[in-house]
Amino acid sequence: MTGFFPLDILFRESIHYHAYGDNIVRSIAKGTMSGSVEYLPLFHDVRGANALVVGGGTVASRKIRALLSRGAVVTVVAKEFSRPVAEWIRRGDLRAIQGRFSPGHLDGAALVFAATDDRRVNAEVSREAIRRNIPVNVADAPELCSFILPAVLQEEEFTLAVSTGGKNPGAARSLREFLEQNREEISVRLERGRRRKRIAARKGKVYIVGAGPGDPDLLTVRALGLLRSADAVVYDYLVPEEILSLAPSKALKLCYARKGKTSGHGAALKQIAIHEATVRLAREGRSVVRLKSGDSLVFGRGGEEAEHLAREGVEFEIVPGITAAIGCAAAARIPLTHRGVSSSVTFIAGHEAFGKEGGAVEWDRLPKDGTLAVYMGVSRVEAIARELGNAGFAPNTPFAVVENGTRPAQRVLRGILANLAHIANEQAIRSPAVLFVGRSVDAVPYETVQEMTDELFAQSV
Ligand code: SAH
Repeated sequence: MTGFFPLDILFRESIHYHAYGDNIVRSIAKGTMSGSVEYLPLFHDVRGANALVVGGGTVASRKIRALLSRGAVVTVVAKEFSRPVAEWIRRGDLRAIQGRFSPGHLDGAALVFAATDDRRVNAEVSREAIRRNIPVNVADAPELCSFILPAVLQEEEFTLAVSTGGKNPGAARSLREFLEQNREEISVRLERGRRRKRIAARKGKVYIVGAGPGDPDLLTVRALGLLRSADAVVYDYLVPEEILSLAPSKALKLCYARKGKTSGHGAALKQIAIHEATVRLAREGRSVVRLKSGDSLVFGRGGEEAEHLAREGVEFEIVPGITAAIGCAAAARIPLTHRGVSSSVTFIAGHEAFGKEGGAVEWDRLPKDGTLAVYMGVSRVEAIARELGNAGFAPNTPFAVVENGTRPAQRVLRGILANLAHIANEQAIRSPAVLFVGRSVDAVPYETVQEMTDELFAQSV
């Protein structure tokens, strides 16, 4: 059973006043009425603490039950005891003092509750407790309280405490009731939270994880959990150091594919080396995160690696990431589909367009009413512009090139297709960059975009 008791404590000068009598009560009342009361919500461990309850009726019995259930040592002072209170006394759960309250009863008390039906007695308890710096609660009289009790929903795994600072207890209660009715939804959320905490890479397993376009904030919760618990990380050059550093420092970090050396025969050899490394590391009993930029299933050879792992009988899981086109589109505020403007989006590998066997991409079959997102096309941008023109894309079709999308060095270049080659040349676009082409590209006015992005986001047309 939990020992924590939900409280709202009011810190106010009057608690420290060495004044007497009604002055204190008046100063408290003034604070409350001016609406300036601010409570500190806290959960108080009352196990073994001496709590004094003045009053023996129904209200007092509720306080006593709450205190006993959290392990407080309760003394009750009352002229008469209601049935449940008498029963607790009989069972020896409570210490009882029959008679009128006297200030001496406060000796040694850590917490005081007044719940008699005599307002003068309640006021006296409050005054004397405050004089001794003992936190006090008076039922239905927030102006006499140094702490108040929130409406509480107590579940096995969590406690919800709702307070309106004593101003609107009815509303607090109805909020609690609302939460009570939505218990299942709350449980689902709690379970999700718990699972998140438990996300950890398993030994002997390979996780093919998408790292997103670069900004570490764009990692998925799952990717982060796996990365943090990985024994080995096999990564690509496009994954920034900031993301890699999220893996434990003792984790083995291997990079096979380095910038500029990823094409042709060399690339094939590296891919084999990656396949072998992931299998070997998993068989050695390590948890392996195979970290790829963007999403591993979009121009990421994730499929090939999964195929190999399946063939070798190594357990694996694929964790999605935000692919460059999605990340760059968001960063440059380019809708990939836009009602009435673009009804499809096509991801294209720009460098595959001019393979040895001729055009792998059939440019003239690409939808003219959609958005094109061309990856890896930097060195081919002139040829791509020509192909699009030949395929019948209007010369005034807007384009945007997003270089280093979502990274500190992000740059967005915009224009129309007729000027693409010229602008690309003049501005010397560098990899990594995604080229967007289509009517939706300038659907969000980009003057606005320029104004609202920070200075790192240089733009030119
Ligand atoms: N699997 C990755 C793509 C890898 S291919 C993904 O889903 O995003 C590499 C290409 O991705 C680059 O040539 C470039 O076109 C694109 N790219 C990756 N990160 C990028 C970024 N931060 N900004 C712009 N383009 C990026």
